[in-house]
Amino acid sequence: AKNLGAGYLRVYDHFFGENVHSRLQLTADLKKAIETEALSVAYQPQFDAATLEITGVEALLRWQHPEHGPISPDTFIALAEQQGLIGSITDFVCRKALEELKQTGLLGKKIPRLSVNVSAHDFDDDDSIDRFRSRFEFVDDWSVLQLELTETAAINNFENTLAVLSSLQKAKINISIDDFGTGYSSLSVLRKLPIDEVKIDRSFIHDIPSNEDDRTIVRTILAMAHSLQLRVIGEGVECKAQAEFLRKHGCHELQGYLLASPMPITELDDFCNSGQTH
Ligand code: C2E
Ligand code: CA
Ligand code: CA
Ligand code: CA
Repeated sequence: AKNLGAGYLRVYDHFFGENVHSRLQLTADLKKAIETEALSVAYQPQFDAATLEITGVEALLRWQHPEHGPISPDTFIALAEQQGLIGSITDFVCRKALEELKQTGLLGKKIPRLSVNVSAHDFDDDDSIDRFRSRFEFVDDWSVLQLELTETAAINNFENTLAVLSSLQKAKINISIDDFGTGYSSLSVLRKLPIDEVKIDRSFIHDIPSNEDDRTIVRTILAMAHSLQLRVIGEGVECKAQAEFLRKHGCHELQGYLLASPMPITELDDFCNSGQTH
């Protein structure tokens, strides 16, 4: 967890300063929120870049704190990782998302795929494979599932991570590498881990089309991914020019406010049934 340091403190200090008491308090509050199911899941659709049909949804955690209001997942996920709570968080998001999607009957139909964010720390323990298997126990066809892997530089137990991912991939689960191109997601991951999809980080997409360097970087990521026969999704797509650029250069899927923001399950149901997917 070495490389959690700087980023963790930056996000955290912004929220609470150096107050150790409130850090402990927030940890206790988060534990309670997990136990009492005070967390919820928002769903952000992902789209085929050419047809704009829905290809999947990404599950994103939301925490409405009783006193502090909404707390960003960037803050509480880092806290959960540091405090050994990430396994319970991943348990929660998998169970909740599968439960809610099941009630709508959308998964595997109008929504071909569910993407869940997982942490490098989800692969630390020797029993992590069993834990993943039990999370998806009630899913018949695992090809509807995808794991988005972040902060791969924080992987502690590489052999275990590789074994778990390979085994899940064999069972048809898709593996996506999140925030690709940032310091946490290095190129070597593409060689060492079984990857199906690359997710171009939104920081590279933000200044497209005006920034020439960013255009070059994104085109290069796309060309490389094509050669390696990986699917590519662009995140943080906020305007038509970005969507058009990505589509033109062979990006398979798009995600971002231009097309749809994260939304609660009831809205997702309406969104998918309105016939208007963009
Ligand atoms: P991420 O996986 O990179 O998720 C994308 C973030 O970008 C989300 O922020 C989403 O709301 C936001 N976003 C979506 N479209 C746009 C857009 O067009 N423009 C911009 N500027 N932003 C957009 P969110 O929901 O605050 O999540 C932040 C991070 O927290 C996620 O980044 C992910 O790393 C982490 N996270 C969220 N839920 C979970 C979870 O269940 N488990 C784990 N381990 N991490 C989670
Ligand atoms: Ca993600
Ligand atoms: Ca990202
Ligand atoms: Ca992220």
